[in-house]
Amino acid sequence: MIGAIDVRDLVGRPGVWRSEHISGTIDDLETELAGLPADTPVTADLILECLAEGILASGRLRGVLSLRCARCLKGFEEELSVEVRELFAPFPHEDSDEYPLGPEGFLDPDQMIRDLVGVELPFAPVCRPDCRGLCGRCGGDLNLGECTCTEPDIDPRWAGLGELFEVLHRSESDPGQAPDQSAERSPEP
Ligand SMILES: [Zn+2]
Ligand SMILES: [Zn+2]
Repeated sequence: MIGAIDVRDLVGRPGVWRSEHISGTIDDLETELAGLPADTPVTADLILECLAEGILASGRLRGVLSLRCARCLKGFEEELSVEVRELFAPFPHEDSDEYPLGPEGFLDPDQMIRDLVGVELPFAPVCRPDCRGLCGRCGGDLNLGECTCTEPDIDPRWAGLGELFEVLHRSESDPGQAPDQSAERSPEP
């Protein structure tokens, strides 16, 4: 939680601005494979400017994303950097993405940060573009080389076909039956 910013020095003074550094952690912002590490704060250097409509917050939000590769499940981190340009208005328009500015002259950036970071959380992060993932049979990490499972993987749906193939092969090499090579047979003298 970052906590409310006192902007009473700006409210009602269009054109006046100042900078504000914010830093804090945001709880419970995660998906299955992506989130914010609990111990690394999100920071932002913001310019807060009073406009006729409210307080405009602009700048850049920085932090670290804690991710898990969707292919090999390895954990890794990625830098987060998001542009901020949001209006905090005393009376936010209903179908706008404005945030409420508290009547006492305080601006709470938490929901804005949640929204900005939330859209940055990747649905299927990959540790590197050519990650080979895990072996579907033994679970071995294919990035570390070929896995150790050597048994040929026969899909049960094809197992019957394998048997049929064997039967055909046996009858082909059966000396009692003429081999089916008539087209290739050389003409008899
Ligand atoms: Zn991976
Ligand atoms: Zn394997």
